[in-house]
Amino acid sequence: MKIQFIGGAQTVTGSMHLLTVDGHKVLLECGLFQGRREEMYQKNQNFPFDPAEVEFLLLSHAHIDHSGNIPNLVKKGFRGKILATPPTVDLCKIMLPDSAYIQEMDVMHVNKIRAKNHQPPVEPIYNSADVQACLGHFVPVEYNQSYPLAPHVKVTFRNAGHILGSAGILLEVNEKGRSLRFGFTGDLGRDGIDLINDPDPLRDLDILVTETTYGNRTHPPAIDAEEKLAQLVRQTAQNGGKVIIPAFAVGRTQQIVYHLHKLFDQNRIPDIPVYVDSPLAVKATEIFRDYPQYLDRETERIYLTDHLDPFKFSRLTYVGSVEESKSLNSLVYPAIIISASGMAEGGRILHHLKNNIENPKNLILFVGYSAKNTLARKIMDGEKRVKIFGEEHEVRAQIAHMDTFSAHGDRHNILDYVDFSDPKHLKKIFLVHGEPEQANSLIDAFRSKGFMDVCYPAPGEEHEF
Ligand SMILES: [Zn+2]
Repeated sequence: MKIQFIGGAQTVTGSMHLLTVDGHKVLLECGLFQGRREEMYQKNQNFPFDPAEVEFLLLSHAHIDHSGNIPNLVKKGFRGKILATPPTVDLCKIMLPDSAYIQEMDVMHVNKIRAKNHQPPVEPIYNSADVQACLGHFVPVEYNQSYPLAPHVKVTFRNAGHILGSAGILLEVNEKGRSLRFGFTGDLGRDGIDLINDPDPLRDLDILVTETTYGNRTHPPAIDAEEKLAQLVRQTAQNGGKVIIPAFAVGRTQQIVYHLHKLFDQNRIPDIPVYVDSPLAVKATEIFRDYPQYLDRETERIYLTDHLDPFKFSRLTYVGSVEESKSLNSLVYPAIIISASGMAEGGRILHHLKNNIENPKNLILFVGYSAKNTLARKIMDGEKRVKIFGEEHEVRAQIAHMDTFSAHGDRHNILDYVDFSDPKHLKKIFLVHGEPEQANSLIDAFRSKGFMDVCYPAPGEEHEF
């Protein structure tokens, strides 16, 4: 068995790893690389393998940094099956068209500038038609049900506790009389986060590929997060400002809505309007409603026993049309606006940032991780002037960052994950989906637990076992 690390290696975006198992080529994830425009085009458009030779794509969850380059994979010749859990399949059906739309809009903008400079137009990485073509390749596979990839290879998805339908991927291989259990965490969730069930770790592994997004951080308990959110909202409302929350449309938005709903019911935040301004988040929330059995016991009970909707309350408005979205620009009273994308790389959040970033009464609240070179990361890192839609803006709003709502496990969750495997058998651990400071801090920690062979592979690196 062989693995080649392609994307999401020594970085957090564009997850992609190629396995060769018993002569069969299997791709783990096909994420979109996000970052500087030119690098984004170059990395996403060129696969360092022939997509036509890949028989299966195994997808851990629907986030675009794991799924977003699938239409391009199919466009470049992939004819195999894409295996994912049923909610992941449904989420991809809304997220990939959204991704194509964002790229088409971006290319239109780029081409206007190129035309002015007498340069030829460029094509988007993929378009809506490419997305439609790829959707037919998806095959839903439930948690804990093995699916044969080849006579001696089977795959099983286990709940990763990260977002709706997210999975850790277990491959069981019998190759030349040797059996091997290979585990890939996907994005690793954590215990005790609302909405989603706690992770069901992969056990008794021989090889582990784990994400390391928060490898050098410890999350405070989720209960404190709710109070901190309440405090920030109270403070901003008192100042007469708005709370602008850039959030992933899938997962984080539903989680924030769920917490705000609770805080309103308990009178812990003032009676101000809340807007979810993301058409994708509206569609994703529908999919959350379709899968109550995939949500945690408390949420399932709220739905099925109490017949209440955790994603709906009197002060909450889901914004659909562009006109409605634009009307939020003229709000003069305190409000909370949740909008995508979480890393502020595109989507309606850009308009809200542009309109609110220069007012010191407002609060920009980041509730998730942001990759290097993204607008969210620049603001979080304290840059005083940032470019939005090509224009410079002074950052005068208050800035806050809460990791606590993160759907990623922290350092302890990553390290504890190997407790379900024996150091005598778990011979090799690969650290992916993390920047160097996060991953390097884990290497010694794993070694002190008795797992000696820990590797932080570079893109392109190949390993055989
Ligand atoms: Zn994710």
